[in-house]
Amino acid sequence: MLKSLTKINLTTQIFIGMALGIAAGALFGEGILPLANPLADLFLRLLKMIIVPLIITSIISGVTGVGGAGSLGRMGIKTLAYYVTTSMLAILTGQLLVNIISPGVGAELGLQSQPQAVDASDQSLFGILLRMIPVNPIEAMAEGQILPIIFFCILFGIFMIQLEGKKREGLQNLFEAGFEVMMKLTGFVIALAPLGVFGLIARIVATTGFEPFKSLGIYFITVVAALIIHAVITLPLLLKLLGKLSATKYVKAMSPALMTAFSTSSSSATLPLTLECAENRAGISNRTTSFVMPLGATINMDGTALYECVAVIFIAQAYGIDLTMPQQAMVAITALLASIGAAGIPMAGLVMMSIVLKAVGLPLEGIGLILAVDRLLDMCRTTVNVWSDSCGTAIIGRSEGETEILQERSE
Ligand code: ASP
Repeated sequence: MLKSLTKINLTTQIFIGMALGIAAGALFGEGILPLANPLADLFLRLLKMIIVPLIITSIISGVTGVGGAGSLGRMGIKTLAYYVTTSMLAILTGQLLVNIISPGVGAELGLQSQPQAVDASDQSLFGILLRMIPVNPIEAMAEGQILPIIFFCILFGIFMIQLEGKKREGLQNLFEAGFEVMMKLTGFVIALAPLGVFGLIARIVATTGFEPFKSLGIYFITVVAALIIHAVITLPLLLKLLGKLSATKYVKAMSPALMTAFSTSSSSATLPLTLECAENRAGISNRTTSFVMPLGATINMDGTALYECVAVIFIAQAYGIDLTMPQQAMVAITALLASIGAAGIPMAGLVMMSIVLKAVGLPLEGIGLILAVDRLLDMCRTTVNVWSDSCGTAIIGRSEGETEILQERSE
C-alpha cells in the first residue's frame, strides 16, 4: 500500500493533499485543527529554515557562475526588464477589468467599518531602495530580511570573482557545495509537501469559511478573473513568443511549486520548491535559476501588483470617488512600486497597499473593507507571483542559449 502510494508522482500527491484538506476543513470545521495545525506548522517551519542559507548559497554561486561583470550586467538587465514588463501588463489587465466590472459601485460594505492600523512607515521609492542596503548583513540574515541579504550576496559574489587562483577556487567550491547540500535538504522537505499542504488548506477552510463572499463576491471574482487572464493568456504567450516553450508542459513541471505557493501564500517560503522544480523537473540551468529566482521571489510580483491596483480602484468606487486618468496612472505606477517593495510573505501586499492609497489621497481605512477576502486572494496572487518568476526564468534561460529546457523530463 505504502509502496504504491509513494509511486504516485509528487504533483498528484500534493493535489490529493489539497483536495483532502478542503474536504476535511469543510466537513469537520475547527475540529480538524488539532491535526491540521501541527502538519501545517511543521512544513512551514522546515521551509522557512531553508530560505536564508538557500538564498545565500544560491545567489553567491549564481553570481560567480554567471561569470564576469559583462554577462552579469546583461542578465541583470534582462531580468529587470522582464519583471517590470510583466508586472505592468498584469496591472493593466486588472485596471481594465475593475473599470469595466466596477465591483465597488454601490457595494454594501458598511463604510464605517473598522479602521485598520496600517504600517505606512517610509514606503517612498527612496525608502524602499535604501532599505535594500543592510546596515548589518548578519542581522539581515538573522532576521530573514530577504532583499538586503540578496543585495549583500550579489556584491559578495561580484567581488569574489575578482580574487585570483586558489583563494577564489576555495570559496567558490565552498558555496557551490553549500548550495548542493541545501538543494538536497530541500528535496527532503519537499517530500513532506503533500502533508503540509493538507494541513495548510484544511486550516484555511476551517477558519475562514465562505461567509466573506456575501458582500465581496464580485470584487473577489474581478481579482481572480484578472489573475487568470494574466496567468493563462499573457504569461503563456510570452513564454511561447520569447522562449518558444509550451506553457502546458512547463506548468506541469512547476506544479509542486505552484501548489505550495497557493497553500503557503508566500513566495519566499516556496522558493526552495521553485528552484527545485525549475532545475530538476524543467531542466533550466543552475546558472539561470540561482540568479533569477531568488530575486524574482522578492521583487517580481505580478499577482500582487494586479491585486493592489484592483483593490485600490475598488475602494475608490466604494467611497463613491471617481478617479481621474492621471490618478489611475498614479495607481498603476505606485502599484508597481508596492509590489516590488512587498516581501514574499503572507499579506505583505495588503500592508503595502497603504502607499497606493496615499498616492491618490484615499483613506487608509479602506483596507478594512477588503480584509475579509484577503486571505484567499493572497493564495491566488502568490501563485501568480511564482508562476511569473518561473516563466521569467525559462525565458531568460532560453535567451542565454539554453536548449535543454523541458526536453524529455518527466518527474
Ligand atoms: N503573499 C505574497 C507573496 O508572498 C505577497 C503579497 O502579499 O501579495 O508573494
